Amino acid sequence: MVASSNTQAQADVTPVLDYDAIIIGAGMSGMYQLYRLRALGLRVLVLEAGTGVGGTWYWNRYPGARFDSESYSYAFSFSKALLDEWDWGEHFSGQPETLRYLNHVADKFDLRKDMQFRSRVASAYFQEASRSWDITLEDGRHYTSRLMITAVGPLSAPTMPNIPGVDSFKGESCHTARWPHEPVSFEGKRVAVIGTGATGVQTIQEVAKTAKSLTVFQRTPNWCAPLLNSKISKEEMEQLRAGYPAMFQRCLETYSCFLHTPDTRGTFEVTPEERTAFWEKLYASPGFGIWLGNFKDILTDRAANAELSAFVANKIRQRVKNQAVAEKLIPRNHGFGTRRVPMETKYYEVYNQDNVQLVDISETPIERITETGIKTSTAAFDFDMIIYATGFDAITGSFDRIDIRGTNGQKLKDRWKFGPETYLGVMVDGFPNMMMVIGPHMALGNIPRSIEHNVDWVTDLVRYLRDHNITRVEATAGEVQTWTDHVKSLGEGLLLNEVNSWMTGVNTNVEGKQVRIVNRYSGSAPDYRAKCDAVAASQYKDMALA
Ligand code: NAP
Repeated sequence: MVASSNTQAQADVTPVLDYDAIIIGAGMSGMYQLYRLRALGLRVLVLEAGTGVGGTWYWNRYPGARFDSESYSYAFSFSKALLDEWDWGEHFSGQPETLRYLNHVADKFDLRKDMQFRSRVASAYFQEASRSWDITLEDGRHYTSRLMITAVGPLSAPTMPNIPGVDSFKGESCHTARWPHEPVSFEGKRVAVIGTGATGVQTIQEVAKTAKSLTVFQRTPNWCAPLLNSKISKEEMEQLRAGYPAMFQRCLETYSCFLHTPDTRGTFEVTPEERTAFWEKLYASPGFGIWLGNFKDILTDRAANAELSAFVANKIRQRVKNQAVAEKLIPRNHGFGTRRVPMETKYYEVYNQDNVQLVDISETPIERITETGIKTSTAAFDFDMIIYATGFDAITGSFDRIDIRGTNGQKLKDRWKFGPETYLGVMVDGFPNMMMVIGPHMALGNIPRSIEHNVDWVTDLVRYLRDHNITRVEATAGEVQTWTDHVKSLGEGLLLNEVNSWMTGVNTNVEGKQVRIVNRYSGSAPDYRAKCDAVAASQYKDMALA
């Protein structure tokens, strides 16, 4: 680390290291972390597997990919100059616009000069003697660094379905998070989509427009709600810009940093007529309001949740002409909002088109992928293209894919076998000098807002280490236990934690991930920040610094 020290201890641990800090990942977290650490005068390198910046927005180029949070609330807020010069074109920007924005950020702050692309990290071993990390890429290149900061993203380890024969298909096929950079045409093609999460829904809406035929293979329907996207005029953009300070302040105050915040009323504190009127209004309003701006008890009170679910089920019945299909699209095994709500644009109407067919694979499971298509228990389908919208090994998956070893050769993957254990979602005992940005047990919510707080906190810690000539920082086992227990207790009583989804760490395609765990912090973001700020104000007294 760039710091001067004459102590013997310091001399022993000041080998010639390649870097003060290596950041893994050039998504929004890695980009901002680089910007902040560089300002401290550190030697920093970002290692990125892709060929450009953007993380999620670099990889997820599938048709229809777009923000489903308001573009302006989901962007960086740290630079007024950046806010002043960037105009958003849509309230919920599409992936191409978002990626353009992130490239603009990289240009503006000259971030690429400290980034190395085509560099997928294979392993990272902590070296006690030198108090540093040895980081090796898949191609064998190797680096040493005092600090390792993971900015690997919670949804960046895509998973293919564990269906026999996936490799045997002779037509075109692709996971949505590995979409090609070249344009893909669906015209005249028989296309299959497997998966109906937020990604599947966005993909299906788009593919249905031009494909000769689209067959959707749905295992579990999700509760979707209208996005109601629209363009932003020049005048509107100026109004939005004038409102930035107030908007970002609001994001700091709400539970999950979104613009939406729950209504203070309980579902049954109003009359049925008032309830319906409120839900009609939310259903007709853009964005996450119906999920995050609803009555305060819809995600904790079963009866309230059932009432809302019945309201949305009726919307689906109204929008889908064939009632047998409508019933298949209505979730039965979980209530509205207990999984991430996919935001849609005429998704349900897609099933009224002649070229679209829904196959309920909970009734007729897929037996295998064949050379020419998909075989279910009752039929064989031929396709030109199969799109896998089958999701991610979420939150811990990107960590599991790197061989991370801490003190005494302990593997992080083994340590987290039964779920993550962390201190503030940022550190783990036994893994000194490793910090995680948007790691497990973090307040996710409106992720860019969480990223900015998380990165600022890590930066303050790094500055403290530098200023005090500290070369080894580690969370204590006791604090990790306390934080992990706290995070688990916050999840109690939430209906969301009683449902299988990536949010509860379940992925049927990954061995060992069939059991629900608590992998996210579900308390309020202001509480999370207060706790982190108190730790910093105490000068990290509960951490082991040496
Ligand atoms: P997902 O929500 O995990 O959905 C995966 C889908 O694939 C599910 O329908 C799942 O069925 C199905 N599936 C998985 N394995 C299967 C198998 N072996 N056979 C048949 N079906 C299988 O993943 P996602 O849609 O990629 O979304 C993940 C998260 O990314 C979202 O919840 C959201 O947070 C984020 N996202 C955000 C945006 C945005 O901001 N605009 C857009 C897209 C995604 P089951 O439900 O039965 O498991």
